[in-house]
Formats: sequence, structure tokens, C-alpha cells
Amino acid sequence: MSETATKTAPPLEKKTTVGNYFVSNYPPFSFWKQEDVPDYRTALGQPPKPDTPLGIYVHIPFCRKRCHFCYFRVYTDKNSEEIRNYIDAVLAELKLYAKQNFIGGRKPKFVYFGGGTPSYLSESQLRELTDGMKELLPWDEVEEVTFECEPGTLREKKLEILHEIGVTRLSLGVENFDDHILELNGRAHRGPEIGRAYEFAQGLGFPQINIDLIAGMVEETEDNWKACIERTREMAPDSVTIYQMEVPYNTGIYQQMKADGKLTAPVADWDTKRRWVNDAYTALEQDGYTVSSAYTAVKDKARTSFVYRDRLWAGADLLSLGVASFGHIGGTHYQNLHDFAPYIECIDRGELPVYRALTPSDDERLIREFILQMKLGHLKFSYFNKKFGTNAAERFAKPLQTIKDWGFATVDGDDLRLNREGLLQVDRLLHEFFLDEHRNARYA
Ligand code: SF4
Repeated sequence: MSETATKTAPPLEKKTTVGNYFVSNYPPFSFWKQEDVPDYRTALGQPPKPDTPLGIYVHIPFCRKRCHFCYFRVYTDKNSEEIRNYIDAVLAELKLYAKQNFIGGRKPKFVYFGGGTPSYLSESQLRELTDGMKELLPWDEVEEVTFECEPGTLREKKLEILHEIGVTRLSLGVENFDDHILELNGRAHRGPEIGRAYEFAQGLGFPQINIDLIAGMVEETEDNWKACIERTREMAPDSVTIYQMEVPYNTGIYQQMKADGKLTAPVADWDTKRRWVNDAYTALEQDGYTVSSAYTAVKDKARTSFVYRDRLWAGADLLSLGVASFGHIGGTHYQNLHDFAPYIECIDRGELPVYRALTPSDDERLIREFILQMKLGHLKFSYFNKKFGTNAAERFAKPLQTIKDWGFATVDGDDLRLNREGLLQVDRLLHEFFLDEHRNARYA
């Protein structure tokens, strides 16, 4: 790319076409390989690095319906016996880990139940899963337990149990409040279920309730989005997470686009989605919220942390359990087998169900942490200089200059700051920091 082109025309796409926008890790998943699984086994045999916190992620791959925008590994057809078998497998997987040098005896600092729909589990399944987990690796040093919920799966009893088992951050996948839009996008829940679940949860006194929204679902309009913002302000949750609609390859929306021979997704363009998120943040700021990352606004910054995100983005170990889940231990990335039956069969044989892995080089680890922390909108170079023994401002001089020239960032001494416009498209800017061989990679 020429210097002139860089300065005058950021090559940022306007239309929403197929592909991943959100960057959740680095190097891209398509570079993780089966041949590198021995690296992961070596990492497991080592003692952990002192002062590196451990977190646990549990993937619950069940949903009532598959949303048309979903790109996760989920199943909508499993009966209660299969779900019980899955819980047994997850606990057996954790048991295998508890015997390993790297994990045994450690106490997790954070636990995250994601999916899929963790709240799809019944009350007794939830008890069985969490009691079993605590027996193997006690939760007495846990600072945060996040639990993702689909509002239509929450009854009062289930919420009581979630509170009792120690969930501290309840995350409600609201996405939109309008029944027509929810239906059209394949969501299982409806508007009235959101209010009911939220009220019950509030009454129980969870330390933090987050609601997730998506800007730009199919048939989203200006008026609808305004109504979503107003409804969110009325609810006044502790934190609000807003994603911009993206259309990865393995979504129902893309399948339909392909069938119709369309290249552009039937959702708002990126400028509009960014404006909508900005409108939401501006309204929330008027109510005293602080924008704490590209995706999140929090009501009380001093009280509301997000330990999972902050620890993970600072290089914590993440023990990931369940089908297709992604983890990171002792500097090696790994992913589990991504189909239900092979995952269960592997555990039944007493083997860890890892399918591919990658050990990033020191430079790749630096890039990973740097780009993930850029999503917070502010970072300090000195943190990276100290941790990685390299001058981060010099290492990233070129991409930093590029995003400054585009008008999205400023560097002031030790501080890198993204302005709102930069923050709202940070995931595209991160590619500037990638190694050449990782640019334009598919995140699959
Ligand atoms: S609820 Fe979440 S995980 Fe389940 S299908 Fe919808 S988007 Fe996917």
C-alpha cells in the first residue's frame, strides 16, 4: 500500500459482506495445526509460570434454536440424556487436567460459562456441573464467575441456583427488544421474557448484570435502534455490551446470501452500525456510564470489572473445556475437537480431546496482547516494554503511524489512545499489526 493511499484512504469496507470482523485471538485460528498438538502436551507437563492467573472456560453447546447470525458450535437437537453425558464428559475432562503438572493444585481466578446457551441446562444439571468442578479445582479464590443466559430459558428457580452456585456476572443475551426482529433473526426468546428475567435477576442481587445487544440485525431500523437504546436506559444494567452485526461464512444469513447470489448481507452497512453504537454509547454516557472497551459501557467503573476479559487480554492461562472450545496454557493455544460424538468418545477413552494447537513466537505473543489491549481504547507502552523486553512503540512504529494518519489514534509519551471512531472499528485496524502471513486470514 502506498504512503499516499494510506494517508488519504483507509481501505475499510463500507458494505457488510461475508467474513469475520471480530478478532478474538492471534495468530488466526486457521494457523493452528494438528501437528502442533505435541507442543500443548509439553506445556501441560511443565509447572505453571509463577503469578500467571488461571481461568476456566466451559463451553455449553446447546441452544433452543440456531440464530441466523450464529457462527458457534451449537446443537439444537440433544435430549436430556445426551446433555447429561456431555456434563459427565466435561467433568471427566477437568479430572484429566487436574492430574497434569500444569493444572493440578491450582485455584482458578475466574470461570466463564459460554456457548451456546449455558442457561439451557436444567437446575439439577447446573448443580451437578458446578459441584463437580469445585470438587476438582476449588473456587475459593475465584474473583468472577460469568454465566451467559438466553432470557427465555430463565425461570426464577434457575436464577436462584445460579446465584447460589456463585455466579457474579450474569450476562443476558438480549440482542434486540423487538419481537419481529428477534423472530426474523432466528432468536428463541421474545421481548416480555427479557423484562421478567431481568427483574428476577435484579431481585436476587447478582453483583453484576450485563446485557448484550447487536447493532444491525436483519431489518434493524433507525427507530428500532433508538427504542433499543431507550429500553436499555430504562433497565440501567451494570454493563451493556454491543456487538456490530457481522456475517461469517458458517451463518444461516450467509447460506441465504449464497442461495440468492448476493454479495452484500441484508443488514446495515458498517458506517451505520458504528453510528448506532456511538448513539448508544453517547446516550449511556449521559446516564453516567463509561465506555470501557470497543464493545462495553459500564455504569460504575470503579465497581464493575470484567476479570475474564482483562486477565485473558493480559496473557492469563485459560483452561477450556467442552466441544470446540479454545484455550491457552503455558504460552500454547489449543482447540478441542469440534464435533459432539468424537469429543465424547475421546474423553471416554481417557484422552484429552485436543484437535489443534499453536505455540506463538515471542513476537506473536507480543502482537496478541498488544492488539487485544487496543480493544480497550488505551494502553501503555511501558507495560509491553517490561513484559516482553522490547520497545513496543518501535516494534509497532509502522502500523501505529498508519492508524494515526487515518485519524484514529494518538500517541502521547507512554500512552496510545484510540478515539471513538477508531475504537468503534478497532477490529479492522488490528490487522495492520499482524504479521504479513496472517493478514486476510480466515478466522475459522
Ligand atoms: S443463542 Fe447464541 S450460541 Fe445459540 S444459536 Fe443463538 S447466537 Fe448461537
